[in-house]
Parts: sequence; C-alpha cells; structure tokens
Amino acid sequence: MKYFSTNKHSRPVSFREAALQGQPDDKGLYFPETIPTLSADFWRDFPEKSKPQIAFEIIKPYIGADIDDATLFQICAETVNFDFPLVKITENIAALELFHGATLAFKDVGARFMSRCLRYFSAKKSEKTIVIVATSGDTGGAVAAGFHQVENVEVVILYPKGKVSTVQELQLTTLGANIVALEVAGNFDDCQALAKQALADEDLKSKVFLTSANSINIARWLPQQFYYFYAFQQWASEMENGKWKMENGENQKPQSKIQNPVICVPSGNFGNLAAGILAHVSGLPCEKFIAATNANDVIPQFLASGEMQTKTSVATLSNAMDVANPSNFVRILEIFGQNYLNLKEKMEAVSVSDETTAETMREVYEKYNYVLDPHGAVGFYALEKYLEANPEKRGFFLETAHPVKFDSVEKIVGTFGETPASVKDLFARQSQKVAIEGNYENLREILLQKV
Ligand SMILES: *Cc1c(COP(=O)(O)O)cnc(C)c1O
Repeated sequence: MKYFSTNKHSRPVSFREAALQGQPDDKGLYFPETIPTLSADFWRDFPEKSKPQIAFEIIKPYIGADIDDATLFQICAETVNFDFPLVKITENIAALELFHGATLAFKDVGARFMSRCLRYFSAKKSEKTIVIVATSGDTGGAVAAGFHQVENVEVVILYPKGKVSTVQELQLTTLGANIVALEVAGNFDDCQALAKQALADEDLKSKVFLTSANSINIARWLPQQFYYFYAFQQWASEMENGKWKMENGENQKPQSKIQNPVICVPSGNFGNLAAGILAHVSGLPCEKFIAATNANDVIPQFLASGEMQTKTSVATLSNAMDVANPSNFVRILEIFGQNYLNLKEKMEAVSVSDETTAETMREVYEKYNYVLDPHGAVGFYALEKYLEANPEKRGFFLETAHPVKFDSVEKIVGTFGETPASVKDLFARQSQKVAIEGNYENLREILLQKV
C-alpha cells in the first residue's frame, strides 16, 4: 500500500515512511491509494473473532510488508488489550465506551499502535527518536503512556499551564523515565507553535530524528477503525439475542434481525469520524453517520451551506473538540471523492451548545443513572435528536473519554461516577514537570540535552 498526499505535491510513500514522517512536505495529509474491502472470509466467523484478530485483518492491507505478520499481530494485541463495551442506555441508544484504556480516552488506541510501530521502525536504526507533542489534554497523556519505557524513544510533551484538568496533568507528569512534561506559560496554540518550530529546526534535526505524534499521523488514524468493528460485533450479537426490541421490521435485512446502527461521533479534528467512515467503506454496516460538534461548528455549517468558512475556535465544556479548522476533514472529503452530495447522503452534522451539553449530562444521569462526560454528552444529544426524527432507527455514540478526566463533570452532575483504579493510583504518584516560557530557546535547550 502506498500513501499519497491530499495536496498532491509530494510523492507517494510506504506505510513506514508515512508513519515516520507524519505529514507530507506539501502539508497535505497522507491517504491510502486504495481502500481495502473486507472479504467474505472476514465476515464468516466475525461473531467469534477475537479483538486482536479483527484488528490484524483490518490493518494488514494498510501495512503490507513493512511489518512482518507476527510482529503486526503482537502490536495489534498490545494495542487493544482493554475493553470496548457497548452499553445500552435507552431503548434505542447505546454508548460505545472508549475509555477503558491507560489514559481513559479513545486516543489510547491510536497512540499505542503508533508507539509500537515507531519502536519497531526505530529498532532498525541506530539514531534516537524524539517524539514531540503539543496537547490540550487528552493527546499528551495517551502518547506519553503509549511510549512509556519504549527503548530508543524520548517523548517531550508541551501542555498549557492551568488549562488541562487535574487527572490529565497527573497522567502527563507522573510517568517519568523517557517522558518529559513541559508546562508552558501560554495557551495550546503557543504549545503547538513551539512544537512546530522544533520540527522545522534543521540544525536540531541533523543531530536527532525528530517526529510528532500528531493525530494526523496515519499510524494513529488507521487503528481507530478497530473499535467500530468491536461495536458492531456486540451490536449484532445483542440484536440477535433480542436485547433490542424490533417493533418495526422495515429496515431489516432479509433473514436477519440485524438493523444497521446510526453512529454518532463527537468530533473536533474529525480523525475519529474519518476512521469510522473508512471502516464503513471497507464493509462495516452503518445506517448513517452523525458528526456532533460543540459551538465550533465549521462542519455543520459546511454541510448546511456547502461552504467552508474559517473561524477562530471558541472555548467550550467539551474542550478536546475546540477545533476551528478540523484537519482530518479533508480525509472524509477524499473518501467521498471530494463530492459534497455523496457526503451529505451518508452524514449529518449537528452543533450542540454548552447549555444543552450540561442539561444532557444532568438529564441522562437522572433518568438513566449514566454519567456522561461533556464530549459524550454532545454525542448523546445529537443522536437522541436524530432518533426523535427517525423513530424506527437505533444507534450508538462514541463515549470518547471517562468523565473523571473533566473537572466540570462533578460540578454539573454532582459525581464522576465510579472512579477507575488507575486514577486513584495517579494521586499517589510523584509528579514531575518542567515549567518553561513560551519562547523557543528554552525548548531547544531541553531538546539538545536529550540528543
Ligand atoms: C480528541 C478528542 C475528541 C475529538 O476527536 P477527533 O478525532 O479530533 O474528532 C473527542 N473527545 C475526546 C475526549 C477527545 O480526547
């Protein structure tokens, strides 16, 4: 498999090159030259397949010969070594809980897969690799945990002082070993600007191999397809077993009780949704995709009007989705052949205000005793609205992170729900961070010490 740049000005590269490089020189995004179709063999014993087996079969065509089969299977097994339960909340809505991994967010999947690919590729070269990543909260923790104690790789994380939650900061600062957490006096944009400056520093790059673990990296993006299949495996089995009432048979496939799910994805940079749509093109059954955004509504506006208007981002409760210009959206356009009408047929987009998000969190807790995090609440609400208008359908939304990661949840709902053991453990650990000003010289000095 080769990957081309969506800007078309860089040459096509292998998986290995695309994963190591992150972004093509022409500043496009890497995209696979063909989208594989899952074979009848894949589906025949799908209900019984293990998580690593599903992951391996999905990702194999994307990797080709760049990683041998035994190693690739091992990487898959390590990537998905936690649960992805589909939890029924109402008569027609379920939550796909993606928060049972190391840092309690879906980003663990992409980060674990990418770190293991980079470990494999760096073991074959003598140079040390420095991974630099700017984070507004969730990315940094997932990347840090994914790369923790990986030999030959150093990770430098930049996060904005006072702007990440209590649990997020502990996840960044308590690992130690090859992970350095830099607390930047500034905001997320300042962190990102610093990371970009380092990645463009030719003198530094002549001394050490420098890469970013940005969400646009294909090694983070492609594995996000896995859990859509885990969801469908549970969905189909629960339908077969009559857990979902089927009053209306119109949408059913002949000889099957399985009704395709509406899938709602709380979206910021649109990587998660783009992975779901990619999975669908490969064969994953899906009735409709709903992109749920917060007040940062460039995509809902685009779907309504056909015009992409750039805006500046606004701060919301679901802060991991405070993205003004979603970089992965170009991949979604690519999947639909840049055709706006094809896209509109398969996908809807909804913007949800902070007020509605908070109300949804309170209501879902009162009515169903389920604690949503603000991102999941955006997804729940968008799906609920869609199903009100389409009462014969059913669906699930992605619960992208555990509520305990967001300080606002306790204020709004009154509880975080059950606190995972890993969180209790965090508070007992030693926290270490280096405070830096927002100028590049500071960062450069720290990076040079790692060479
Ligand atoms: C990153 C993140 C999102 C947004 O995902 P995208 O792939 O950028 O659309 C949503 N929720 C949480 C909790 C996140 O960390």
